[in-house]
Amino acid sequence: MTVARRDTPRPPNSWGMGDGQAIPWEYAPAPESREVVKLRERYGLFIGGRWVSASDGETFQTIDPSTEEPLAEVARGTAADMDRAVRAARAAFRRRWGDLPGRERAKYLFRIARILQERSREFAVLESMDSGKPIRESRDVDVPLAAAHFWYYAGWADKLDYAFPGRVARPLGVAGQIIPWNFPLLMLAWKIAPAVAAGNTVVLKPASTTPLTALLFADVCQQADLPPGVVNIVPGPGDVGMALVRNPGVDKIAFTGSTEIGRRIAAGVAGSDKALTLELGGKAANIVFDDAPLDQAVEGIVNGIYFNQGEVCCAGSRLLVQESVAEALIGKLKDRLATIRVGDPLDKNTDVGAINSRAQLEKITELVAAGVAEGAELYQPACDLPDRGYFFRPTLFTNVAQSHRIAREEIFGPVLSVLTFRTPEEAVEKANNTPYGLSAGIWTDKGSRILAMVRRMKAGVVWANTFNRFDPTSPFGGYKESGYGREGGRHGLHAYVRLEDR
Ligand code: NDP
Repeated sequence: MTVARRDTPRPPNSWGMGDGQAIPWEYAPAPESREVVKLRERYGLFIGGRWVSASDGETFQTIDPSTEEPLAEVARGTAADMDRAVRAARAAFRRRWGDLPGRERAKYLFRIARILQERSREFAVLESMDSGKPIRESRDVDVPLAAAHFWYYAGWADKLDYAFPGRVARPLGVAGQIIPWNFPLLMLAWKIAPAVAAGNTVVLKPASTTPLTALLFADVCQQADLPPGVVNIVPGPGDVGMALVRNPGVDKIAFTGSTEIGRRIAAGVAGSDKALTLELGGKAANIVFDDAPLDQAVEGIVNGIYFNQGEVCCAGSRLLVQESVAEALIGKLKDRLATIRVGDPLDKNTDVGAINSRAQLEKITELVAAGVAEGAELYQPACDLPDRGYFFRPTLFTNVAQSHRIAREEIFGPVLSVLTFRTPEEAVEKANNTPYGLSAGIWTDKGSRILAMVRRMKAGVVWANTFNRFDPTSPFGGYKESGYGREGGRHGLHAYVRLEDR
């Protein structure tokens, strides 16, 4: 086991020697101001265009995972509140939204997209405060992509005839949407934008550790004059999510989260005529061939697993390296890891922020301990962690066997397992040797090899010479235990319409 330490003496020429001892630059703090966010002490549920208390008056606290300090009290929805929200959504669907001409619906989506852009700084800061992700990511990825989804689906709202030529696309009705904590605003946008563009109304349950940007989005809906009841936001625990799943007034369920809860949701929907899409876990292989540009690959590997603290369903958590370049690549990776800065999510120099919750930190810690106990070799760079908050060092495991838990289970943290292969056949076999099938990455100089590999990957998304690229026009979704259905692109619309013959 290797854990690089700050007090390890370094020879002056150690930069780039593959020993993880690259001399880190010292950066002055560059904190983003919290002033732009006006936190309320207490947030209600957003139902029928109004803020209301939970039916039993209960609330819960949401905290900043980087300081463990409370941020706000949030109304804790109940099954009765879910029912109220579903009825509000149904009334809005019947009242007009379902029949409104697409060009009219589009105006609201364009308005929402523009407001998200105008208030982007506020959203980015709040997202980082509530989730722990670095401001650079919330500012440059989450919020711009969320706005882009609204722009994109606004464009489709009056063109459904072109999206599905020869068919008539009708909205399904009320969509129940349950989202996770790793990309709170972005997952909201992935769910709400296509649904309302196609004429559905929605009830959305955010994750309990990250409700705040969804509640700020409710404010945007008001600002955009969205008709009451088209979007309803009800925070609450898992059983309230299940109350939404089972509610007979819901026509479609869309869920992103763990495979375990996805299974329960599929069981909850079984026997009803509700439509269902599930976007679940992953254990992606990022495959590096010996002809790949190694320095570029290192950046892709780092982005693939340390982006958003590795709390990404499509994270490249298994690195498969061709044996002949393994030593060189691992050396470069260790050097690169030494330059990663872990710390305050609101510091613009931070690369890896806080883990979202204590429970998630414990899960990562437990799986990393299992990796060591099973015989893999652990490497972590020297980096000081803040005294408070949920932080975890970027971690690299070598000497990993396919049977190790760290090679099989979704860790959902900044932990990379490195395996090697000799031939493309072996790479394919190892990459597909997982119950998941969400994403994969291929690094090679040869276009023909990319095409050959893509065909053989059992993964919904395959990136070539890049990783973790997202675009609203591109469908995203999984195979096997990573779920079914697609979000994004024209495919994402399909999940929210019933197609009829002309
Ligand atoms: P969950 O799957 O439990 O949470 C996702 C969403 O589902 C949250 O809104 C959650 O609410 C809700 N939920 C929980 N239980 C139920 C239920 N019985 N019925 C309906 N909805 C429910 O993920 P966790 O937060 O517990 O994370 C556990 C693991 O899941 C992680 O360690 C990670 O491996 C994986 N994960 C995968 C994600 C992905 O995108 N693939 C995203 C998040 C987690 P609440 O927050 O109130 O519990």
